[in-house]
Amino acid sequence: MDRRAVIKAGLGAAVGWAAGPLRGAGSSQPEKRKPLGLALVGLGRYATGQLAPALQETRLCKLAGIVTGTPEKARQWQARYSLPRENIYNYETFDEIAHNPGIDIVYVVLPNSMHAEYVIRAAKAKKHVICEKPMAVTVSQCQAMIDACRDHGVQLSIGYRLHFEPHTQEMMRLGQQKVYGAVKTITAQDGMAIGDPNQWRLKKALAGGGPLMDVGIYCVQAACYVTGEKPVAIESARLKEGTGPAFAEVEEELAWTMRFPGGAIAECLTSYSRRLNLLDVHAEHGRFTLQPAYSYRGIQGKTPKGPMTFPQVNQQALQMDDFADCLLTGRSTRVPGEMGLRDVRLLQAIYEAAASHKAVAIDWT
Ligand code: NAD
Repeated sequence: MDRRAVIKAGLGAAVGWAAGPLRGAGSSQPEKRKPLGLALVGLGRYATGQLAPALQETRLCKLAGIVTGTPEKARQWQARYSLPRENIYNYETFDEIAHNPGIDIVYVVLPNSMHAEYVIRAAKAKKHVICEKPMAVTVSQCQAMIDACRDHGVQLSIGYRLHFEPHTQEMMRLGQQKVYGAVKTITAQDGMAIGDPNQWRLKKALAGGGPLMDVGIYCVQAACYVTGEKPVAIESARLKEGTGPAFAEVEEELAWTMRFPGGAIAECLTSYSRRLNLLDVHAEHGRFTLQPAYSYRGIQGKTPKGPMTFPQVNQQALQMDDFADCLLTGRSTRVPGEMGLRDVRLLQAIYEAAASHKAVAIDWT
């Protein structure tokens, strides 16, 4: 059985590529594993500023290839990361990646409306896939991505880095295990000043919407991971349209309320004109808070017992190493395509509630 067939069959542990459970990026444990090869598709700010540096810290996967439409970037990245020439693709040659045994994982870091096409092409090339958030701009695209990955026998995961962040994991534990009793209200806010009015994030066709699609999704995620539930209704949603050329196609702000089956209510707010970064939870017997809650670094938490004292980690390195570990051991990712689809469905329901000025019930059956 060759290496790829072993990975596909989830037998990595049996052949010694995964000697034990993941201990975290940057561990000083002796390195016995041969890292899986990962190719980044789209070399924009996130790939350049976060993912490529994180891939210098991963233990189970490494930056092995790139897919870019800009020849100058290809030259720069090839030199900077010592990439073999045959591992460099553009959007036309991308499908040839199917014949490259040095690439096991494709990570799609393109504008939102392009995710579906490249995830499906990666699946057809029989590469495991990580897709950035939001998974896609429609639920039907998400379903097609899940189907393609299942049909071609590859795993699909979404770039939900916070699931690997210890303060966030503590919020999940406190909420889901009802450590301070049942969760009553959640306040989740994520926003930023958007800057350049010409960027793709402000074009509906590429972004699928405004701040809700981009950073509001973190509020949806937070409310779901604190409760461990899926909301049963968008109770209300109010959209601020914004003025000027920046907001010709997408909203400037959106405020919405979600109701969960256990009784929790989440009050959420997202914006492209102000900085917001909060997750505040009131449970029956205590309050626990993260602020900032969604940043790459510097997350701070507080509980009734005092400040949280967890270490700062490289979220992206842990996220990518965990996915590699899933492939090597045959385990399923904790951030699968189905979670990405759930969130896109909620984003669409929030837009529907904003447009109709009515509550939108969500039937998950
Ligand atoms: P970016 O604008 O910096 O990069 C986008 C890349 O896509 C560029 O390299 C650009 O050349 C390429 N591209 C290809 N076709 C394009 C087209 N038609 N229009 C515009 N660009 C095109 O964006 P980014 O901030 O790197 O975001 C990329 C993806 O990553 C988005 O889905 C975003 O939501 C996600 N993201 C996730 C996080 C996170 O924390 N998980 C953070 C930032 C971005």
